[in-house]
Amino acid sequence: MSAPRVVAPTRVDSPADRMLVADRRGSGPITEVECTTCMEGSGPVGGELVVTAWCTAHARHAGHTGFRRIVTDFLRVVAAG
Ligand SMILES: [Zn+2]
Repeated sequence: MSAPRVVAPTRVDSPADRMLVADRRGSGPITEVECTTCMEGSGPVGGELVVTAWCTAHARHAGHTGFRRIVTDFLRVVAAG
């Protein structure tokens, strides 16, 4: 059996009057970390020092050492020009 075929779009609708940009009207990107063993999560954290502190504290009290970093970034379509 052959691998599933991936069909690339033959046409991309990209009207010149619109463009996709990073949305910086809100909080900006949000970072969270999650334990890959028990799925406990940090909730939104600010900065690498807090990520490191949360993961090392969780490893210390739970003994779990694998984590998933989740970064949510926001985009917005705006009028061009
Ligand atoms: Zn855990």
